[in-house]
Amino acid sequence: MKHFDVIVIGGGHAGAEAAHASARLGASTALITMSRDGIGVMSCNPAIGGLGKGHLVREIDAMDGVMGRVADKAGIQFRLLNRRKGPAVQGPRAQADRAIYRREMLSETEQRANLEIIEGEVTDFIVKKGSVAGAILSDGMEISAAAVVLTTGTFLRGVIHIGDRARSGGRMGDRASVDLANRIDSFDLPLGRLKTGTPPRLDGRTIDWEKLESQPGDAEPVLFSFLSEATSASQISCGITHTNEKTHDIIRNNLTRSAMYGGHIDGVGPRYCPSIEDKVVRFADKTSHQVFLEPEGADDHTIYPNGISTSLPEEVQLEYVRSMVGLERVEIIQPGYAIEYDYVDPRALDLTLSVRSVPGLFLAGQINGTTGYEEAAAQGLVAGLNAGLLAQGKESITFSRSESYIGVMIDDLTTRGVTEPYRMFTSRAEFRLSLRADNADQRLTPIAIALGVAGTKRIERFQAKMSKIDDAMAILTKDAYASKAIEAAGIKVSQDGSKRTGFELLAFPDVTFEHLININPELEIIEPEIRRQVERDALYAHYIVRQKRDIDLLRKDEAHIIPTEFDYNSIDGLSNELKSKLSISRPGNLSQAARIDGMTPSALTLLLSHLKRDS
Ligand code: FAD
Repeated sequence: MKHFDVIVIGGGHAGAEAAHASARLGASTALITMSRDGIGVMSCNPAIGGLGKGHLVREIDAMDGVMGRVADKAGIQFRLLNRRKGPAVQGPRAQADRAIYRREMLSETEQRANLEIIEGEVTDFIVKKGSVAGAILSDGMEISAAAVVLTTGTFLRGVIHIGDRARSGGRMGDRASVDLANRIDSFDLPLGRLKTGTPPRLDGRTIDWEKLESQPGDAEPVLFSFLSEATSASQISCGITHTNEKTHDIIRNNLTRSAMYGGHIDGVGPRYCPSIEDKVVRFADKTSHQVFLEPEGADDHTIYPNGISTSLPEEVQLEYVRSMVGLERVEIIQPGYAIEYDYVDPRALDLTLSVRSVPGLFLAGQINGTTGYEEAAAQGLVAGLNAGLLAQGKESITFSRSESYIGVMIDDLTTRGVTEPYRMFTSRAEFRLSLRADNADQRLTPIAIALGVAGTKRIERFQAKMSKIDDAMAILTKDAYASKAIEAAGIKVSQDGSKRTGFELLAFPDVTFEHLININPELEIIEPEIRRQVERDALYAHYIVRQKRDIDLLRKDEAHIIPTEFDYNSIDGLSNELKSKLSISRPGNLSQAARIDGMTPSALTLLLSHLKRDS
């Protein structure tokens, strides 16, 4: 029997990132997936990043993960979303060439040391003394490991729906994972059903592009990876069309034939990514919705119409797409469909994404009730790292809400569970002024270096950047200038008579580094990238000092670890409702307990006193 330190099951976005993370740690890792060609496949939208999601990609990259670098190579249109708003809520996004993304992800995976790709379907686990200790493939091959990361996406008992037709499938063109789902039943985990959908793919050669408004990318692309310098793929524009009253009438008249509306699907869908049927029903007063026509690749005539995912019958899909301007003679290459699948209530997991009741088993990605490539990859990173650390007999790593969006997501999932597919938004992060996409490296790369998962190039780049920032900060904080000198340099700030350092002056939104050079020519030597970074740091410095108190409180609560087996029923005075909620969620620390629905300050004090007594 072959043996690895870690087995990762599934080569989607969670699986690829998990396998790379474990291998970067030095753990021998097997990535077992149904098909080698499926590594890096984007099941739905050919795009990476966006609001909140772009932050996750930057954080994965800061930990030396792969998604950001691959997306930069595959990016065919880059846009920084919320460009006019503050840096804290700006999100880098790129439309990706599907084929290049897949090719580059496979190539990265094949080249990674300590990582072996094995093609096959896992149908069973090896379980020893109650712990998962390996995987069994459909051809009978057995592979043992100290830890297993399961990242099977939408494949567990997946059912594809188009109109009133339903068939088993993991996604279009792939078989579902049914044997493994049956095996998972034996672990007695809390399971549920979720659904998601995708639009029909259109043939770009049958679209009248000249009738459409065009949307180009940013002139100066903002890339994902702190290591990338330029994009290599050729850049494209998207077309924009709109649904209209006729489109809505066609959809309304056929609602009962939609899988989602005709009562064929029980699972809950993503509220923030509604199907066109949902939009027409929920926003009945709107007579039009925007549809972005996004090419799936620079040399590919397949077009992804963003905004019209559907589970209506194929002929209705053709009728409604043809009702839109520019699409009057369009042909559909692949119909839109909905998919329903099993997920595990993520409250069954701890902050390392390990299943509390099944030692050795970690879960990451869509299987945990999330939606999106970035959410999946970020979980993969955490599960892969912890599986590797477990195999090496080392202490686990967790991410705090105060230091990363990764921490926010995992805390949300494991504390609150999900009622619909979970996706990341900047509004989910209470410390978003400090958790910016631009400073993800400053927040997380030191952790990656300490863990030993950052490569040489990453370490050198990061250290060089930090030393340049330190140099700039030394000059910027050395002298404080009087109002007269500030005014003489043409800098307009409120005059309250106080002296201000260069860094303090940069906190004023209208003051740039270039203004400060008038006052201190020494700053001329600071290069543009460092100037922009210091400007962003200065803009939020004031708020971050104020946030620090809340962050310190959170950290203090996080330090009160609650043992996995803690008996909540033994706390007299705690309501039965809270006893039950805490027993289901099993928060890992006091901070997580505080965020459980219905938790009160007095219940927390009670819990804390019991924790102190038992420690
Ligand atoms: P996946 O990318 O699904 O990868 C799972 C992998 O596991 C596959 O490689 C598969 O081959 C492998 N696998 C499964 N079972 C086994 C087994 N037994 N043995 C070996 N290998 C196995 N996201 C959005 O953000 N917005 C959307 O609108 C959206 N719409 C979607 C619509 C559809 C129809 C689908 C299918 C997905 C959609 N997604 C959407 C979700 C997005 O594709 C996923 O969130 C993301 O791909 C999840 O990544 P993952 O790694 O968890 O799983």
